[in-house]
Amino acid sequence: MKWTRGTVQRKTVWAPGLFTLEIHAPGVARFEAGQFLQLGFDGEDGHVHRPYSVASPHGTILDFFIVLVENGKLTPSLWKLEVGDEIDVSEKAAGSFTLSQCPDSSTIWLIGTGTGLAPYIAMLRCQETWDRFDRIALVHGVRHESDLAYQPELASHLQNHGQKFAYIPVVSRETVEGALQGRITHCLTNGSLEEAAKMEFTSDCCVMMCGNPDMLNETEALLGERGLKKHKKKDPGNIVVERYW
Ligand SMILES: Cc1cc2nc3c(=O)[nH]c(=O)nc-3n(C[C@H](O)[C@H](O)[C@H](O)COP(=O)(O)OP(=O)(O)OC[C@H]3O[C@@H](n4cnc5c(N)ncnc54)[C@H](O)[C@@H]3O)c2cc1C
Repeated sequence: MKWTRGTVQRKTVWAPGLFTLEIHAPGVARFEAGQFLQLGFDGEDGHVHRPYSVASPHGTILDFFIVLVENGKLTPSLWKLEVGDEIDVSEKAAGSFTLSQCPDSSTIWLIGTGTGLAPYIAMLRCQETWDRFDRIALVHGVRHESDLAYQPELASHLQNHGQKFAYIPVVSRETVEGALQGRITHCLTNGSLEEAAKMEFTSDCCVMMCGNPDMLNETEALLGERGLKKHKKKDPGNIVVERYW
């Protein structure tokens, strides 16, 4: 893999261990919103790196929305980074979790758990996304209210695109005003997700899902019962998935 140097320009801590790094990395080649880069360092055990969705479109400053994994190999070092610190960033992005890989549709569900919000933040910063769809529902599943990052930015999307945009926070371990309670799968089964989004999971919608593997598997199974299936170029469907682990 080819590496380029990145320098931390800004660190936003949303909650303990949940943060966004804005990294100046002008050597990264052009990429599509939704793709991921590798971040890493040289350590005692060689070069340690992991993939991270870029939470911004291509530019000289790239955002990464990261959660500290206790006892993880890389995230404790990422969590310690401060403004001015350097990090290795892969030169080329990878991945096909992008709108160009989605089926043609007028409505799209963007479903993520935890830091699985990252690729959607990048997509929603692109005007093409707003131009392409008649209705966009962003569903963010978290445990606690404090994990609901990017509130000011999402509020501004609601202000600018409220007629076509629904933002639906789903909080599993607390009751939060304005959020659905429980897990995403629970809210899908009881109909509250579609009610809040004012749109349905129909055979001609697109569903992007990103994050925790249990949510991905269970949601895909539930949508399967509704006649939705994975999208493949040769076998068109609805669902496009990014698995974080
Ligand atoms: C395509 C892709 C994109 C990714 N994008 C992001 C991103 O934008 N932000 C991000 O924080 N992570 C992202 N990840 C996960 C990331 O690559 C690392 O796995 C994670 O940061 C843990 O690294 P670590 O070395 O500290 O932990 P490791 O020692 O590698 O331990 C891995 C374990 O950590 C847990 N874990 C991994 N990722 C997460 C997570 N996001 N939330 C909760 N638990 C997790 C799982 O139990 C996993 O088995 C992405 C993974 C993939 C495959």
